[in-house]
Amino acid sequence: MATDPIPTKPLVDGYQRVHRDLRISVTDRCNFRCTYCMPEEGLAWQPREAVLTFEEIARIASIFVERFGFESIRLTGGEPTVRADLPNLVRSLTALPVELSLTTNGSRLDRLAAPLVDAGLDRINVSLDSLRRDRFERATRRDALPEVIAGIQAARAAGLDPVKVNVVVTRGLNDDEIVDFAEFGRHEGVTVRFIEFMPLDADHRWSSDSVVPSQEIVDTIAAMHPLEEVHRGSSPARRFRYVDGRGEIGVIGSVTEPFCASCDRVRLTADGQLRSCLFATTETDLRAIIRAPGRSASEVDHDLARAIEQTVAGKGPGHGISDVVFVRPARSMSQIGG
Ligand code: SAM
Ligand code: SF4
Repeated sequence: MATDPIPTKPLVDGYQRVHRDLRISVTDRCNFRCTYCMPEEGLAWQPREAVLTFEEIARIASIFVERFGFESIRLTGGEPTVRADLPNLVRSLTALPVELSLTTNGSRLDRLAAPLVDAGLDRINVSLDSLRRDRFERATRRDALPEVIAGIQAARAAGLDPVKVNVVVTRGLNDDEIVDFAEFGRHEGVTVRFIEFMPLDADHRWSSDSVVPSQEIVDTIAAMHPLEEVHRGSSPARRFRYVDGRGEIGVIGSVTEPFCASCDRVRLTADGQLRSCLFATTETDLRAIIRAPGRSASEVDHDLARAIEQTVAGKGPGHGISDVVFVRPARSMSQIGG
């Protein structure tokens, strides 16, 4: 006998924030070693059996969408494109009524952009922190700038619009390239989003002095090309359009202008741990629930939904980076899923 579908219930935390956005890390591995994210030797990768299968990811995603009304899913990592057959995961997630996006370092997009779009990918963000080949190599410890630029162009050619380029701005490293990036965005027809450096680097090099405030970035660009602010909607980025009509930029002031009060995100790590915040110090083991022996499919779904509700109910008010008592999470960005 068919059962009635369970009604959608918004996932609300103790601060009345409704959650609608799920970030899924598909792998903790990466082919780059960005200095603000990973040490040169890499990290201790999760063993393959610890990482969720595509079927497990799709099942957890369906609980978020069908029970809790989530509207967007972003795939990330580590580097999501190093996971074999990524388009297959995208294709299976298109069964859900959500906007599907990807954050990538772009190094494999030249080959993958078209298959990902064919599989149903809606949006893409490519990370790129320098337009100078030698500096790019120092920043990522890989000489791959031409591949990333080709990847951005392939994403545009495959029909992704807008392509967003994420730049983490670090004082003394690339803050002299802010205007170059603005020109790049205007020339290539991509939206550049400048992100403040956050204390999630594996090497613990972060200090508040290394953060370039978002407002400084806006002022620097506006001095060359006048900007006007655009309504940001639920986006963490403040958005500005060029007055001359040649596109827009975004700034994500995670440190100097935290947007925690309107946060609508939760994160699933590659090994199936649910985090209510990038900076959460606790996690909920959804992998253990989905792999629990002797539970029926409906019991597992019920257990997953309860665990998700409890995790979100326990979400803190904000990341507290500026608090005297700030505690860094035990995992770095690539291990959580940025
Ligand atoms: N490998 C993919 C990439 O680089 O786009 C996806 C994962 S990466 C962890 C996601 C995003 O986090 C990237 O845009 C990266 O620049 C950003 N990121 C990494 N470490 C960061 C940090 N300490 N502060 C701010 N952003 C960071
Ligand atoms: Fe890899 Fe992305 Fe981290 Fe760079 S930022 S090391 S590309 S996971």
